[in-house]
Amino acid sequence: MNAPFKTVRQLESYIGGRWVRGAGQAVPLLDASTGQPVALIDASGIDFAGSLAHGRSKGGPALRKMSFHERALMLKALGQKLMEGKDEFYALSTATGATRTDSWIDIEGGIGTLLSYASKGRRELPNSRVLVDGEVEQLSRDGTFSAQHVMSPLEGVAIHINAFNFPCWGMLEKLAPTILAGMPAIIKPASQTAYLTELMVRRIVETGILPEGALQLISGSVGDLLDHVDCQDVVTFTGSATTGRKLRTHPVIVENSVRFTMEADSLNAAILGADAVAGTEEFALFVKEVAREMTAKAGQKCTAIRRVIAPRGSVEALIKALGDRLAKVALGNPADESVKMGPLASLAQRDEVRARIADLKANAEIVAGDPDRPNIISGDVEAGAFLNPVLLYCDKPGSAKAVHDVEAFGPVSTVLPYDTIDEAAELARRGKGSLVASVFTNDAAFAREAVAALGPWHGRIMIGNRVSAKSSTGHGSPLPVLVHGGPGRAGGGEELGGMRSVKHYMQRTAVQAAPWLLSEVTGRWMAGAIARNDTVHPFRKSLAELEIGDQLITATRTVTLDDIEHFANFTGDTFYAHMDEEAARANPFFDGRVAHGYLIVSFAAGLFVDPAPGPVLANYGVDSLRFLTPVNPGDTLGVTLTCKQINPRETEDYGEVRWDCTVTNQEAQVVAQYDVLTMVAKTWPQ
Ligand code: NDP
Repeated sequence: MNAPFKTVRQLESYIGGRWVRGAGQAVPLLDASTGQPVALIDASGIDFAGSLAHGRSKGGPALRKMSFHERALMLKALGQKLMEGKDEFYALSTATGATRTDSWIDIEGGIGTLLSYASKGRRELPNSRVLVDGEVEQLSRDGTFSAQHVMSPLEGVAIHINAFNFPCWGMLEKLAPTILAGMPAIIKPASQTAYLTELMVRRIVETGILPEGALQLISGSVGDLLDHVDCQDVVTFTGSATTGRKLRTHPVIVENSVRFTMEADSLNAAILGADAVAGTEEFALFVKEVAREMTAKAGQKCTAIRRVIAPRGSVEALIKALGDRLAKVALGNPADESVKMGPLASLAQRDEVRARIADLKANAEIVAGDPDRPNIISGDVEAGAFLNPVLLYCDKPGSAKAVHDVEAFGPVSTVLPYDTIDEAAELARRGKGSLVASVFTNDAAFAREAVAALGPWHGRIMIGNRVSAKSSTGHGSPLPVLVHGGPGRAGGGEELGGMRSVKHYMQRTAVQAAPWLLSEVTGRWMAGAIARNDTVHPFRKSLAELEIGDQLITATRTVTLDDIEHFANFTGDTFYAHMDEEAARANPFFDGRVAHGYLIVSFAAGLFVDPAPGPVLANYGVDSLRFLTPVNPGDTLGVTLTCKQINPRETEDYGEVRWDCTVTNQEAQVVAQYDVLTMVAKTWPQ
């Protein structure tokens, strides 16, 4: 890390299946604390059009041949391998200025995101290559023309242009949904910290887990890459709003309607509830959270709290508590384990933040922290990019401009007083759209009003209070399962959010056809599609024999008053509609006593099950259960059970089978409709 310049390694790009160097003069990247060179970077002369072609012709087809579950298992294997080798990433991460805790967010947070997508993908997506989206829409009265939305992976390449602050997480949080969707990626990390991304990509490539072409890396500038994108490609960007706007309006991106997702500057707010006065648990939690968000990653987080909105009466106590806490933060070289906050990523970044603090001073005064004389406990005060945490106060935030416009991307926040909740919400909105806002309150009415007012302007709202204090993941942590992104100034994009983000890399298509054809196309049986009634009960068939459309039409059973009374007394469900003729008649929905819905479902099971041990291993629930026509004593029920969807598990010897279950009466009216969910063995006997 502190090696002399000449022995410093030049970073390489992984393009077209090879590690290559740029042809130009490489630029040194410096350790944030010591100013010593860590690596050299240059990507000039690289064949970027060729790299896109490689992703499209090799990576895409290889990924699209796999099912969602196969791709999810690949992510799992990758996550496990990276976790095994994490120490090496931690060692290098120190050069970026990150403390051990900062690195944990970046490295293990990133790997954890891969693993989360691996697990959710297998639970929430089918083990197939086409994703069925939503329900069938019947388009004709006679049921011969219907529609189904399906989603297929785009055939281009996802180009991920990332920011300097999270060299690992920034890559992995975008790569996970991309690969799961079946799209290859080209990663372009920010130059300043690209050495850590390059190391991780090397380790990924060495595992041989991803098919060739699924992942490429540019260490350096992207050159003419964007001149070659087309409508099947996706570009995602994280960084400054200025660069984002430039890329979003790139003529080729505009011309080809290339999907562009942007995550840019965000002046996130934390609001202290009117109830959370000094002395309350919420006040103490708020102070802790603001200080943590200011100092984690030295405030270089897109989700960090930039504006601290507090009741005017609490401002004095708040500034005092925050000032005391921030004064105790040990600033220095994160190689020293007692350091709690490292330097900014570079001297240029520190100078940039100092300049932004000067801008903020147009409306605000510094109330804690000297931006010019860093109080370090270790490191080189001249060569390292150290900056004390700086707290400002703006007395008239309603008429101020800079505090709502200027993002100082470092350990800097401004306290803004409010008098009414409407004013607090208005101040938060002045950020013009943010990634996240947090509200600290133990007052339900305050929380309700705040969410209603802040919702349209934020991608995420975290409510902090005493109950969730121990388990809360905090204001600043984007989670794999929750949406990360925000409107307006935050870029207008959306990342993560579980399976939502997988769909960003897929095309949704409405397919209209006769139901049997739709069923063939989607691998999902629907009413009107072909059904087969052979002599073998479908519950006797293993996955090796069972086919979509295998159907059982059962014998019938007449429901008696005795059945209803027996069921009522046996279960304790003696609701008047089943037991009291007069009261039932008075009910607008019934014409006398009716059978329990659960009695109908139980009788249906009695009609369709095949009782002997067989390939059906378990019934794990029902979906979309609806009772559509009342059943009176004397009605005769029958069931049509049809195999609707088969989802074999990749690593198990069974899979899930979804059955369409339709219960009808003697007049062929549907009395109940639902999906029965079972686990079925792949072979039987096993
Ligand atoms: P930039 O917008 O300069 O860079 C972000 C990414 O875009 C980097 O990978 C950069 O590569 C790349 N890039 C820059 N110019 C181009 C271009 N013309 N074509 C293609 N790619 C390009 O942001 P910085 O990382 O320098 O950060 C600057 C400011 O952005 C911060 O001070 C902060 O205010 C904000 N920021 C916001 C973040 C957020 O998530 N909200 C995250 C990080 C930064 P290269 O590094 O090689 O130039």
